[in-house]
Amino acid sequence: MALPENIIMDLSVVIPCYNEEESLAELHRRVENACRNADVETYEIILVNDGSSDGTIEMMRALVKQNHHVVAVNLSRNYGHQLALSAGLAEACGDYIFVLDADLQDPPELLMPMLERARNGVDVVYGQRKTRRGETWFKLFCARAFYRTLSFLSETKIPENVGDFRLMSRRVLDHLLSMPEQQRFIRGMIAWIGFKQEAFLYERDERFAGVTKYPLLKLIHFAVDAISSFSIRPLRLAIPFALMGIVLAGVLALYAILSYFGGNVFPGWASLATIVTFFSSLQLLCLALIGEYLGRTFIEVKRRPLFIVSDVIREDGSDGK
Ligand code: UDP
Ligand code: MG
Repeated sequence: MALPENIIMDLSVVIPCYNEEESLAELHRRVENACRNADVETYEIILVNDGSSDGTIEMMRALVKQNHHVVAVNLSRNYGHQLALSAGLAEACGDYIFVLDADLQDPPELLMPMLERARNGVDVVYGQRKTRRGETWFKLFCARAFYRTLSFLSETKIPENVGDFRLMSRRVLDHLLSMPEQQRFIRGMIAWIGFKQEAFLYERDERFAGVTKYPLLKLIHFAVDAISSFSIRPLRLAIPFALMGIVLAGVLALYAILSYFGGNVFPGWASLATIVTFFSSLQLLCLALIGEYLGRTFIEVKRRPLFIVSDVIREDGSDGK
């Protein structure tokens, strides 16, 4: 955005950061090293400050001063991981784009082997976790359940145990940037784009410092976003439920008629009450599903910008405007 369009880098590294002041120095050291060791002439390291409340932005300003490869994109508030990443990607000028987390769970040193694969004609080299060290069994269980559900519901094949850690080609990024949707499940969107995509198996490390920025509630939100932006199957689930309900109601009606003629009237209100409750819940469930999608349609039709950049800080002191 800030650079003239004809200046294209060999590589852009994009890192969303939310309250990562403790990791930034080490992150910068390792990413800078990885870029130097990778066979690239020009590169940029785009750090996105996603409305952090700690000293992240000050650290970023210092890094921009210290290293002219670093660009800091400062968002106007906290937008969440996927939008922060989108903001960084929108700024990237590279032929190849390397995406990683700020907490060093994804080793920057893998840039070199991943780049080699990409240069051999693979458009997306995505990191697939062999192990996930330092994660609770609860998180692992949830992740597994989430990916199983997602692959059952979605028509796009979204690989399991894959985060946003990846290297992608310029054409994939251009297509990604042309997708205007608000609820962005980026790894899924990239899977949808297609071209040649390959997994790169790696060991996921523990967080370098600080705590996860994905508490349970945010994770649930993320999962709902992913599923509802990739599948309308849950909406269709209402149909078999409704059919089952109708059949059941028919059987019950028949039973009631037979009981009436058999002189066995009003054989227990409890069963009736149960049935009424059951069906009202079913209706509520269907309504909730419809509401979910309707809400999303509402958000999409507003066509708001995805994020607002407060300023872009580069070494020449310009704010990129
Ligand atoms: N992140 C962000 N905005 C947020 C939450 C997280 O930019 O609102 C960043 C965070 O700084 C990190 C990445 O997204 O670089 C992944 O977050 P985290 O490591 O906390 O997630 P986890 O690895 O625990 O799933
Ligand atoms: Mg992490």
